[in-house]
Amino acid sequence: MRRRVVVKVGSALLTPQGPLGPRPFERLAAQVHAAHEAGVSVTLVSSGAIAQGRLALHLAERPAELSAAQALAAVGQPLLMRRWAEAFAALPRPLPVAQFLLTRSDVEEPLRFFNARRALRALERLGAVAIGNENDTVATEEIKIGDNDTLAAHVARVVGADLLVIYTQVDGLYTGNPERDSSARRVPLVGDIAAVESFAGEAGGDGWGVGGMRTKVEAARVATRAGVSVVIAHGRAPLLDLLHNAEPLRAPAALDGTLFVAPLSPAEALKARWPLSGRLTLTQEGGARLCAGEAASLAHLLSADGEFARGDLVELCVEGAPGPLGRALTAYGRAECLRALGGLSLGGAFDGPLVETRDWAR
Ligand code: GLU
Repeated sequence: MRRRVVVKVGSALLTPQGPLGPRPFERLAAQVHAAHEAGVSVTLVSSGAIAQGRLALHLAERPAELSAAQALAAVGQPLLMRRWAEAFAALPRPLPVAQFLLTRSDVEEPLRFFNARRALRALERLGAVAIGNENDTVATEEIKIGDNDTLAAHVARVVGADLLVIYTQVDGLYTGNPERDSSARRVPLVGDIAAVESFAGEAGGDGWGVGGMRTKVEAARVATRAGVSVVIAHGRAPLLDLLHNAEPLRAPAALDGTLFVAPLSPAEALKARWPLSGRLTLTQEGGARLCAGEAASLAHLLSADGEFARGDLVELCVEGAPGPLGRALTAYGRAECLRALGGLSLGGAFDGPLVETRDWAR
């Protein structure tokens, strides 16, 4: 069973007249709860801020002007979170919810990427369901075309998910438009995205969402490159069934959706994206401090290998440990590390933590 999953829910699913019926939040919260009970950590990416803003202000149409859509998102985002909070509070075992707002540029560079990862994993440890959306007042990429599809792929990258589930109004990617073409067939498994690109169409004209298959396939490209497999499925498909069947070697034929298989693991993809510049080996005390969430300092450094500068990504090892502890952004360059290892003083400017942020989990 997958351990860490991101589930993206489109705007059209979250309206009372949508395909999930009048209580879509409750229905989806129950799915997340079931996965949670089975030991799967779920992070949600929820669209629907603009839709909630529209419902609250009784607007029959989505405004054409971008700034008005942004304003509606600002009105709707707290309402959207209230809906989720109420749905998760009504479960037999209630779950607390947490909001995070991101834009793609927030997670383009390692420091902010790892900061976001750390915060989301801390929420996971607290047992809270993290629910994200694009920060629509400062970014408009998803309002314009995406309905959070690509954002969800980046969130999956940040949490280091095994799988991204994109819940939508159709049960997967079809070879044509099934509403107009009776010969259109669902594609169960995609290895090469280029081979299916021509199947993807734009969003329907109901005005609640702005995605469509095209942005979902684009999201699948971003996610699979980052080592995250992707399932596109109808919002009614039970999450646990999808998680069970979304194993390329198990039962893709039984999967009620389309599975895009990632060609490499999230850890391999991360290394390829941001190559490691060197390696720091720490004393056991330094390693234990980091694992306990405390800072390690230069006094815990045993050796420094490679050519790296302050802020570069390095591998962290601990004396006597069989494998690396993880990756970190080093607060010191190689020259400073060697100076400290040689017993030379670096002066007061260099007495801070050895690493600025880290990724211990893999
Ligand atoms: N961030 C937007 C929202 O939650 C995306 C969906 C849209 O543009 O309709 O409302």
